[in-house]
Amino acid sequence: MLKLSEIFLSIQGESTYAGLPCIFIRLAGCNLRCKYCDTTYSYETKFEKYSEDILKEIQQYKPIKLVEITGGEPLIQSEIYDLLTILYDNEYEILLETNGTIDLEKVPDYVTKIVDVKCPGSGFEDSFLTENLKHISLQKDEIKFVISDRQDYDWAKNFIKKHDLQKYLILFSPVLEKLESQKLAKWITEDKLPVRMQLQLHKLIWGKDKRGV
Ligand code: SF4
Repeated sequence: MLKLSEIFLSIQGESTYAGLPCIFIRLAGCNLRCKYCDTTYSYETKFEKYSEDILKEIQQYKPIKLVEITGGEPLIQSEIYDLLTILYDNEYEILLETNGTIDLEKVPDYVTKIVDVKCPGSGFEDSFLTENLKHISLQKDEIKFVISDRQDYDWAKNFIKKHDLQKYLILFSPVLEKLESQKLAKWITEDKLPVRMQLQLHKLIWGKDKRGV
């Protein structure tokens, strides 16, 4: 049985899928405690369900077939692999948002991974499992840096250079309460950095504290 926080339909607010209607399955529990975490409520389990019952629940959102599994950190629950199989067998397009600290080897190729690299501002700058770079696809996966300040920006820039990530699809996302988006945009253009800046669209639509949207 999987431990869950919430399941809902919304507009995807991040990644290259931003703007599309998307079903969110938020699993409960996380192995980190980032300083800027905006889903602290997901640390506790709200309910439990078998994968088959999760499938039944999301089928109410037909014909939407885009689903994101997020958290918390979804990969700390081994039962997630059954859920991935069931969703794939039922022709869902699956996005997986993960914090980069858990081995990605077992995640099937049909899943699009959006993998965080935690910057110093999170409080967990050494948490990224560098072996995971072997399992991140150049074609379909995305690597995300959440930027709190100039120190994070420079750290992310150096990380990209050090690990030769220029060919990957890289997302830079400002922590809205800490860093003005204009500043981040200016730094990126000054440096001509080949990254995609993103704002959390769902927060712009519904406000920063609204849950389940
Ligand atoms: S990894 Fe994500 S869910 Fe976990 S503490 Fe950090 S921001 Fe919150």
